[in-house]
This record gives sequence, C-alpha cells and structure tokens, in this order.
Amino acid sequence: MNSLTDYLTFNTKTRRAFVNITPQIEKSIKKSNIIDGLCLVNAMHITASVFINDNEKGLHKDYDKWLEELAPHAPIDQYEHNKTGEDNADAHLKRQLMGREVVVAITNGKLDFGPWEQIFYGEFDGRRQKRVLVKIIGE
Ligand code: ZN
Repeated sequence: MNSLTDYLTFNTKTRRAFVNITPQIEKSIKKSNIIDGLCLVNAMHITASVFINDNEKGLHKDYDKWLEELAPHAPIDQYEHNKTGEDNADAHLKRQLMGREVVVAITNGKLDFGPWEQIFYGEFDGRRQKRVLVKIIGE
C-alpha cells in the first residue's frame, strides 16, 4: 500500500467563504501515483468544513443564507461560547452543519465522483491561515 499526506493552506479575505478545492485534490492524487484507493479530505479547524456538492454560485449563496438563518453571527452575545471572549460561536455551529470531512474513492487514478460532485472548503471564521489535510491511500 502507498500513501500520501498533503496539507493545503487557506486564508480567505472574508469571514465566510466557499472555495472549490477539487483541482488541488486532483494534483495531490497525481503526485501520489495511486490508481486505486481512497482519498480523505478534512478541515483541521473547528470553524471550517470540507463538503461535497454542486459547483453552482446560487447554491452557495443559498447555503450562506440558510446557515445565517440557523446560526446568525450577530448579535454575538446570544451565544454562551462567546462569553469566553471569542466571537465565533456561529462558525462552530455552521461547521457542524456542513461537516468536517469527505472520503472519495479513487478509480483509474481519478476521483470517482457522481455527476456534478465537487469538493469544497467552507470557511466560517476566516481572515486567518487555516489548513486542510489530504490523506490518500491505495496502490
Ligand atoms: Zn470558538
């Protein structure tokens, strides 16, 4: 069995953002030379997500609106967590909804996606450096 570990770094300009990271994951798979295996991609921070869905801008706006309805950023004093001096309780809740990681099969050296599937990084407390782990195993 072979394996490859990569760390991707993100520093979004806005507090919340969605980034299509599929091209970066494809680069990692190429580098690994793995033809048949599994690819794990996970956010390494508890206020960011990795998820799979459609690469469609309207949908991403819908996600943002939906997440803000469920866990609005302000007023920040509505959250117990923010009594610690932080202001990112909403980001922890949004991350929980959008998930920590994805696992995708690698078949014939490529991500074995369903139609329209792409991998996204979801940022909910950005404007600072954060990492995503990519772990690829197989042969
Ligand atoms: Zn926090």
